[in-house]
Amino acid sequence: MSRFWSSLVHELKPYVPGEQPKIADLVKLNTNENPYGPSPKALAAIAAAAGDDLRLYPEPTGLALRAAVAAHHGLGVDQVFVGNGSDEVLAHTFQALLKHERPLLFPDISYSFYPTYCRLYGIAPVEVPLRDDFRIAIGDYDRPAGAVIIPNPNAPTGIALPLAEIETLLAQDPDRVVVIDEAYVDFGAESAIALVPRYENLLVIQTFSKSRSLAGLRVGFAIGQRPLIEALERVKDSFNSYPLDRLALVGATAAFEDQAWFETTTARIVASRTALVDALAGLGFSVLPSAANFVFARHASAKGEALAAALRSRGVLVRRFGAPRIADFLRITVGTDAQCERLIGALREIL
Ligand code: PMP
Repeated sequence: MSRFWSSLVHELKPYVPGEQPKIADLVKLNTNENPYGPSPKALAAIAAAAGDDLRLYPEPTGLALRAAVAAHHGLGVDQVFVGNGSDEVLAHTFQALLKHERPLLFPDISYSFYPTYCRLYGIAPVEVPLRDDFRIAIGDYDRPAGAVIIPNPNAPTGIALPLAEIETLLAQDPDRVVVIDEAYVDFGAESAIALVPRYENLLVIQTFSKSRSLAGLRVGFAIGQRPLIEALERVKDSFNSYPLDRLALVGATAAFEDQAWFETTTARIVASRTALVDALAGLGFSVLPSAANFVFARHASAKGEALAAALRSRGVLVRRFGAPRIADFLRITVGTDAQCERLIGALREIL
């Protein structure tokens, strides 16, 4: 016999992350991880911290990391909030800042965690359709709302908005919170962090998972003026007063300070992206203009589902999404040149 509580969470349809199978020799281009590994200085800092001190609680506010990020951007340490991956920072943001009686706007094709958080926190989303060319048109957001969240570059399209457009969005309604999710910004888009001193309604969220190659460490951060950051701190303190563990704190701080590693590896990924786009175009794909570490591509005749399955059977994993408008697209992470060549070789066999 079923109990009343057996159905309590059944309404909730959780976000499903990309698969992480353990198959030898697999080319894993499905979850936008960085192929180059974290900064060696970050790994050394983590190894050094993995000792007896782990019996102690971590510093509760992530102060060392916040100070490094704040100094880099010429901001105050109290304008930076850190969390356990940008997914957690986003969760706190939804709860602290996006939960209004007025609706929350976001693009109808964007990060699929947004609708999940709306369901979790009881927020009414208004999904704003992308234009026919898969671009965000900022004029479409000029309507009454409590808040807006937009990834820049957008995911999974990879298309970036120029900073001037973000500024237009911010100025449309100073009473509306605007969150820019910059998970992929370091691969070719302009960061809105520069606008934070001028717009009190702006929150920018970034992650260490992509350009810093630390997806496994789970570190993300938000930057904004004090009232928005304070709202996040209140939610965090009511949820988990130790968001970052000791290893994450030292590892992320060292990674952030290793600017040389960051620049070399992101430049390599950007160069490989250009080569990948050319090779895909040569095989009959149309590829959306990407400012991210992935490309979003559709073949002129082959169906997305069949292509993804044929690639998989050749040991190459890519990501597909179910929404009808993008069902024939493949989202392909930019790997090393060797990985991209494996993908292109497999596609030549298939097509
Ligand atoms: N935002 C966007 C747009 C993403 O694609 C991702 C990665 N899946 C995230 C946020 C979350 O990244 P993380 O939790 O690893 O920081």
